[in-house]
Amino acid sequence: SAPLSIVRGAGEAAEQGILMRTGEAFQGFRLVRKIVLDKTGTLTEGRPVLHEVETLDGIGADELLAFTAAAEASSEHPLAQAVVKAAFERGAVPPEVDSFEAMPGKGVVARIEGYDVLVGNPRFLTERGVDLTALAERIRSLEEAGRTVIAVARNGRALGCLALGDTIRSEASGAIQALRKAGMVPIMVTGDNARAARRVASDLGIDEVHAGILPDGKAEIVRRLQADRSRVAMVGDGINDAPALMQADVGIAMGGGTDIAIEAADIIILSNRIDALPVARMISRNSYRKML
Ligand code: ADP
Ligand code: MG
Repeated sequence: SAPLSIVRGAGEAAEQGILMRTGEAFQGFRLVRKIVLDKTGTLTEGRPVLHEVETLDGIGADELLAFTAAAEASSEHPLAQAVVKAAFERGAVPPEVDSFEAMPGKGVVARIEGYDVLVGNPRFLTERGVDLTALAERIRSLEEAGRTVIAVARNGRALGCLALGDTIRSEASGAIQALRKAGMVPIMVTGDNARAARRVASDLGIDEVHAGILPDGKAEIVRRLQADRSRVAMVGDGINDAPALMQADVGIAMGGGTDIAIEAADIIILSNRIDALPVARMISRNSYRKML
């Protein structure tokens, strides 16, 4: 049976909306030196909103939005849901979709009204041979402003792009400061573009940023951070965070996250507030001390 101090610690944690689920939660977290945080849905609220639609010649903004929403309609990605919602609110009528495939960490590929359609991050479209030169300047300035830009192409030709924005959680900045004070180095990891990632990181006082990371890459980054025998915690909310949550010495899932992330974690933040992280660290320290 568990030592009384751990039972007491677990109770204290529960009162704060923190579910300590494994021994690692208590034994491991107090020794953690590096804490890796996912950006979207963890440091930000994870509810992106459409801000701008940029079109090239030959298509109007409403038509581009309707077309993009059609491609995104079957995707569960928060960006896709934001596009569909915006299209609906503007009364757009999306065309019918013949086929659809999600490309995790990249975007979607669809066939719509006989066209091959690509929707996703600019790097993905460029890899697929789409020339984005006419949009490059605009994309750069939107990303520097912290936006996530998704580009759209039809039969290999760029149609335009959409800029989406997500709000940084109001408690994030204070939480990062508290983690530093408790002796942990915060590190951001994200599938989003480097410019938007750096913008969020600098607003939060995070120096180390890994951006444009595909789902498998997050676990690899955790593994690399563990190479000098440092204990590493990972905090995330998405399906794409699950391998990294498993790889970390302590995996921490946001309560608002996907089931797969929650199942992979040692600690679950039921309150869904990241200022619970320094509190969880303190509880893990105190219960260990009482155990000695
Ligand atoms: P994160 O690590 O920020 O949660 P993801 O790995 O889910 O991000 O996605 C990384 C990037 O891939 C997104 O920022 C976006 O540019 C692109 N992307 C992924 N899925 C979609 C989609 N359904 N529609 C458009 N873009 C997408
Ligand atoms: Mg996320």
